[in-house]
Amino acid sequence: MDLDYTPTDDAFRAEVRSWLEANVPQDARAKVLNHKRLSRDDIANWHKLLGTKGWSAPAWPAEWGGPGWTETQRHIWDAECGRIGAPPVLPFGVSMVAPVIMKYGNEAQKRRYLPRILSGEDWWCQGYSEPGSGSDLASLRTRAVREGDHYVVNGQKTWTTLGQHADMMFCLVRTDPAAKKQEGISFLLIDMKTPGITVRPIITLDEDHEVNEVFFEDVKVPVENLVGEENRGWTYAKYLLGHERTGIARVGASNRELAFLKHVALNQKKNGKPLLHDPVFASRVAAVEIELMALEVTAERVIASSNNGRGPGPEASMLKIKGTEIQQALTELMVDAVGPLAAPFDPAFLEGEHAHSAAGDDDAAPLAAYYFNYRKTSIYGGSNEIQKNIIAQMILGI
Ligand SMILES: Cc1cc2nc3c(=O)[nH]c(=O)nc-3n(C[C@H](O)[C@H](O)[C@H](O)COP(=O)(O)OP(=O)(O)OC[C@H]3O[C@@H](n4cnc5c(N)ncnc54)[C@H](O)[C@@H]3O)c2cc1C
Repeated sequence: MDLDYTPTDDAFRAEVRSWLEANVPQDARAKVLNHKRLSRDDIANWHKLLGTKGWSAPAWPAEWGGPGWTETQRHIWDAECGRIGAPPVLPFGVSMVAPVIMKYGNEAQKRRYLPRILSGEDWWCQGYSEPGSGSDLASLRTRAVREGDHYVVNGQKTWTTLGQHADMMFCLVRTDPAAKKQEGISFLLIDMKTPGITVRPIITLDEDHEVNEVFFEDVKVPVENLVGEENRGWTYAKYLLGHERTGIARVGASNRELAFLKHVALNQKKNGKPLLHDPVFASRVAAVEIELMALEVTAERVIASSNNGRGPGPEASMLKIKGTEIQQALTELMVDAVGPLAAPFDPAFLEGEHAHSAAGDDDAAPLAAYYFNYRKTSIYGGSNEIQKNIIAQMILGI
């Protein structure tokens, strides 16, 4: 089934496009367009601004403050944000823990956390992965023992994205070590200021501080922060992972990056002519562009079939694989296009402290860091190999 945009959708696109053009903060937008690093405030301020407009949680039901958009309108919103280079709204609160709280949380949890997620008051992080428990998540060992009106948590999480800024973590813990591994897990909401929590940076290949290790030493978590029932956390965790993969195709952002790649390749010369006109390079660019067009159509077909409320299902795995392959291919072509100009590492420029790169080429200077950073996309959100297993089992029936 194809997605037909109605006149109402076209009017919606025009409305959000003009609002974005007037409201995306120019300095944060310039960082996104130039592959520089966003600060905590860039991300938090954008979320808060969207919160006041009522657009921070496009998929939420109106009951909890969502804008009541259709799937198609949400797709248009994503595409327009990608097109203009808006900062991201982090998924951890809005798209991950919030759907779990809405479905499985109690009334007090809903009333406390959902409005704060909507407005951007709380910054959430995801405490799932542990050393040795990534793809095999159900083997996790962080232990929570109930003592009276609280749990005592001990253990370690890893790869916690932007956990250094977080107010809250949603965390999978083992509450029954004797049960089958999926049956002894619980889902806790943990205040990151609780004594006994240590957040330690992991510095990645691009010398960025985006991920962390988080250690728990006798951390007391009130029992009222348990979501749903004790030992039923695996059900909630899987429900959340279904939400994690939606929106991961990032077609709008990749279209913007394709335009940037062409811009860079036009400015580079090969044998006196623009690199973009070199037949070999042009054919590599065309191959990615064709893949991206195919992804866009596929994403629209998935949306058309989920407009009936069925949800994206295992097709989300296809979008995740293709979307991330294209994102990585674009970064590879950018680095290939500028060659040695990508080599200098200029952190002050990347962090937005200097307007121009000391290395001399502002377009090229951030590209090596960008390339290295994007190796992550085929690993996080469930690695691409795991997505292939899901497709094999759920779609192909193998
Ligand atoms: C940048 C980044 C940010 C992240 N942010 C977070 C976060 O905020 N919170 C969080 O909880 N986690 C986060 N993660 C962790 C992420 O979810 C895991 O890295 C991912 O699930 C893979 O787990 P692993 O690293 O332990 O690798 P492993 O599971 O050890 O996998 C190693 C390799 O083996 C392959 N493999 C494993 N099992 C199979 C199988 N059954 N069939 C085929 N191939 C297989 C994998 O695809 C991979 O190539 C992040 C990771 C990265 C890189």
